[in-house]
Amino acid sequence: MTSKEVSALVLDCEEYKEKDALVTLLIEDELVMAYAKGVGKLTSKNRILTQPFSSIKVFLDQKENRMPLILHGHVEKFYFRIQENLVAQSVCFVLRDCIKRSHTTLGVSSLLESVWEAFQTGEANVYTKACLCMKQLLENEGIGLYVDGCVNCSRKNHIETISLKDGGFLCSECNANFYPKRSKQELIQYYSLMRVKEDKFELFNETYLFGMDDFLFLGNWYEHYASTSLLSLRLLKSIKGFE
Ligand SMILES: [Zn+2]
Repeated sequence: MTSKEVSALVLDCEEYKEKDALVTLLIEDELVMAYAKGVGKLTSKNRILTQPFSSIKVFLDQKENRMPLILHGHVEKFYFRIQENLVAQSVCFVLRDCIKRSHTTLGVSSLLESVWEAFQTGEANVYTKACLCMKQLLENEGIGLYVDGCVNCSRKNHIETISLKDGGFLCSECNANFYPKRSKQELIQYYSLMRVKEDKFELFNETYLFGMDDFLFLGNWYEHYASTSLLSLRLLKSIKGFE
């Protein structure tokens, strides 16, 4: 038996058979589906290891050609406030669903946990962090926004909006009043978002303030360019409609 302790983020937990569960974990930027035996029982010690929005340390029994089995472990941190807030939960579900559909999750786990942390502690820049996580996912898939100039004619001045259909920044001439103009500040924020490197994430989070609309915009972007449909994104949009 090969078993080692790993740090993991619990993304999702689905009931399986009578009392078992399939748990989606993010382990060092790798998406892993693990089997949790007997966690449907109230007396199960491993039950707490299957709660979404948890950071856990867990021993997995890993054998070739078989799903890793959760042996035992402990919860490092449970970001329980996300569960108490429908908007927070929906934002986290959008990220989870994108992560589950992505070909690679490189660099994603620390960004995702910073979003969880921000919701837990009620930080003002939680959407900045959520947008940063989404940017990483877009970048990994090679479907980020083109921000080096106008995506249509390549000019670098008179940029006035972002076009989902065209794939990035658009100048006033190419836009021809089709999409509403964006403020200079907004365009700078999006440029910086697409350009920021890992060693500057902290500064980025302190400098810029993104909102839920930005997160929805990037969610639409992911949906469009990854050719997928996200139920969680639709839910978040409908909740926003009621706010
Ligand atoms: Zn142009």
